[in-house]
Amino acid sequence: RLARLPYHKTLDEFDFTFQTSIDERRIRDLATLQFVEHQENLIFLGPPGVGKTHLAVALALEAIARRYTVYFTTPHDLVQDLQEAHQTNTIKRKMRKYIKPNILIIDEIGYRKMEDTAAHFFSQIVSERYEKGAIILTSNKSYGAWGDIFGDPVLATAILDRLLHHSSTINIKGESYRIKEKKKAGFFK
Ligand code: ADP
Ligand code: MG
Repeated sequence: RLARLPYHKTLDEFDFTFQTSIDERRIRDLATLQFVEHQENLIFLGPPGVGKTHLAVALALEAIARRYTVYFTTPHDLVQDLQEAHQTNTIKRKMRKYIKPNILIIDEIGYRKMEDTAAHFFSQIVSERYEKGAIILTSNKSYGAWGDIFGDPVLATAILDRLLHHSSTINIKGESYRIKEKKKAGFFK
């Protein structure tokens, strides 16, 4: 409830036979939550519909079941929330909301470019959580394109440096599960 997950999907609901670019053992290993225990980050990269958010949510549910705290947000909501706090001088208190949880999930980095202040807030959260709390990120952009997302290659490098130091990246390739379901229903003939 407090985690604000966008939907409820478990690991058992994930069809690993459909998404063959994912090694199931690797995901099962992540589900032991050692990475949370060790304050490491996890990044799911891949095109839309391949299961990035599903897997992030499924791991979050495992974590919640084991009494870890989780907070789910999007870059858009995060930045809006922090910008508002910045304007009302409550930024210190507000930052705590993003620093405190054992896992912070930031879903769908890269759908739109961040403005300077937004990128700055994002970078601050990554710095403050560094070696203190796990971050799960999903993105449709490869790391090479992150300079564009943050509008500044130097800032992007600094963010990636901290983010990736203790991290695993899961690269998902393949077809969108949503499209597969549509095909089954006969939307594409
Ligand atoms: P994205 O990679 O864009 O975040 P999602 O994880 O939200 O995609 O997946 C889109 C939809 O398809 C969700 O409803 C998700 O549960 C479902 N889905 C994606 N991949 C699988 C899969 N391999 N098995 C079962 N459901 C899947
Ligand atoms: Mg998604």
